[in-house]
Amino acid sequence: MGWRDVRRRETKSARVMDWEPIPDDVLVPKRARRDGPKRPFPPDVTVVRQRDGMSLADRWGLPRTRGKRRRRAVVDDVSDDSDGDATSDDDEDTETPPNVAVVLAAHLSLGWKLDSSDRLTPPRRPGSSAGHTPELVEMRRAYGIDPGNKDDNDDEPGRKDRPSDAALSALMAALSCARLCGAVLKRVDYCAVALEEASKQAARFRRDIDKMRRTGVIPPWSGRPSPEDEMLANVKAKLADAGRELGEDVHRASPFGSSRDDPDPTLAAAIAAMGGGKKAGPSQPSSLAPVAAVRVAVALDDAMYALAYHGRSCGWAGSSRSSWRPNPALYLNAVTASHAPGATVGSIAAAVRDVGDEWLDAIRRSRMEEGTYLLTAKNLPSPEDVLAAGEKAARSARTKTKDGTPPPPPCPELVQLWRDSCRVWPCRLFAFAAPTRRALTTLAKFSKRWVEIGAGLGYWAHMMERVEGIDVVALDKTPSPVAGTDAVNEYHGRAMSFCTVHKGGPESLRENENRGLFLCYPPPGDDMALDALRALRGDTPLAVVGEWDGNTGTAEFARELRKKWYLVEYARLGQWGDTAHDLTIWMRRDDPRDDVDAGNNSNGFLEAPFASCFTCGTSDATRELRRCVYCREVCFCSKRCAGDATSTALHASAHILRDMRLPAGRPDYSNDADYRPFRPCG
Ligand SMILES: [Zn+2]
Ligand SMILES: [Zn+2]
Repeated sequence: MGWRDVRRRETKSARVMDWEPIPDDVLVPKRARRDGPKRPFPPDVTVVRQRDGMSLADRWGLPRTRGKRRRRAVVDDVSDDSDGDATSDDDEDTETPPNVAVVLAAHLSLGWKLDSSDRLTPPRRPGSSAGHTPELVEMRRAYGIDPGNKDDNDDEPGRKDRPSDAALSALMAALSCARLCGAVLKRVDYCAVALEEASKQAARFRRDIDKMRRTGVIPPWSGRPSPEDEMLANVKAKLADAGRELGEDVHRASPFGSSRDDPDPTLAAAIAAMGGGKKAGPSQPSSLAPVAAVRVAVALDDAMYALAYHGRSCGWAGSSRSSWRPNPALYLNAVTASHAPGATVGSIAAAVRDVGDEWLDAIRRSRMEEGTYLLTAKNLPSPEDVLAAGEKAARSARTKTKDGTPPPPPCPELVQLWRDSCRVWPCRLFAFAAPTRRALTTLAKFSKRWVEIGAGLGYWAHMMERVEGIDVVALDKTPSPVAGTDAVNEYHGRAMSFCTVHKGGPESLRENENRGLFLCYPPPGDDMALDALRALRGDTPLAVVGEWDGNTGTAEFARELRKKWYLVEYARLGQWGDTAHDLTIWMRRDDPRDDVDAGNNSNGFLEAPFASCFTCGTSDATRELRRCVYCREVCFCSKRCAGDATSTALHASAHILRDMRLPAGRPDYSNDADYRPFRPCG
């Protein structure tokens, strides 16, 4: 069904329909009538209620099979005591220690060893592969360490091993080993050994690159720091960060080998600070404390992303658009699956296989899930810390930042660290919101031809074409750099794009008539979105992915939409810890009777809601709502609606999914630290 048919149907039924659910979590909002919508917005809440017993974990698009139970249990525990059976199940699993041989299977198969006195040693000759079962190959591929790895996704025919492949594999092996030993096994001693090995392999990579430049295998580099310099500086800093966390966490050193091979001096200093270099002798292994485990995970994921970004930006380490080393989606899903109680090599390999090709959403889901293991399950952060963060934010001036974006939602420092780690790099390497199959289907329903402005790396455009066969023209004011130029995209650096992105902006719409306009997080505080909206001609749909509070375009953009367009469809997108975005599809009000500015509203079409009361559904166009500052997902129209028991329970669950729990009685509708007026149009 094309959008024209939708439109025709809309027009016929406009007077009798308001918000009508269709299967799953997509609602078709009909034109709202003057007496206001009966169903609340965001509509997924309605759907959650309709699906009796459905947990909010489903709504957030968490994986259904592995590792969900724990978060569900917590969610159910808080939100709905009729569903309490999951809690008892969960208790059995809580203390199951992870199986070292399973978690490190990929590494052990590459020559890493656990000796009889429980010491981990790196392989003498990195890359000597021992195990060849398909599961092990899959695990090693996820960590980017298979010595035979030709980048399985690399479709470049006849590509030979790159000269630096061995050094990169060995570095990734040590890095991923440290990540697993630190955040999953919580073993300080193993983690320290792996960090030292990573430092050594980074130095080896450095030497290999220098040699290749000298001998002309890769072109010499002049001017700004080379991609390798940038990557190595980043990796070394992050290894040092992780080393410091280990140092602060224990008093006794791990059994450290002597530093034969010029490891990074910063890391060496950190190791020395914790008494490294001396043999501690057989002793109880120290367990990494929960807070330190989070920090180690964050530091080492940054290092992993630095490697991934290097692979996507260095220009010679792979030219295929689907080539990754490592692929963060596979990597993070393997790590996350390793946390699951009773994980096996088979279950970890299956988690990697299940990633499919929706990489960004797979990263998002794995971050949600690992947050459960690292934070929620460890009762981090405390409700008092959350409240303190909220009150601190309320005390500091709540003025908007320079570019007009609102400050990030308040949360304790540890949660902020985790959220940034979850989202910043994926935004840089992919896009600001994760396309889902449902969102792509929704777009296809309205048009088979779109033009995307501000396309960044073209990830949405690429997914629209790949999944739905949509014809998309992707435009950006700074398209992904072509070899030989020095252009850098403000948001994506020099990362490789997913499809061809052409140079263009709102002015290019003239050459792209009869295409729907797609905008994903148009830059805040910038008129690009408004200009594009005004330049759009004809009877084509507009699709916007973003947040309605200044994070997407400008207040004027929202105002223009509200007055001159009407909302025809809404699709929920999966959230990160600090987002409140969705996909909305709009059609122009071209009937003069719809012209709100001219005082005409004879069809009874209300201005589009950007939010509505979580309890009664009153639209923010009708009445000013107050929105929760912590999740920015829940609005209420009145104290009475805020006191509704079901809403309160669902709201508490939404906070837990964002790694926060507030003390009883909070958030409090009348407290300005908890709720603020929601004014999308300024
Ligand atoms: Zn209400
Ligand atoms: Zn909230």
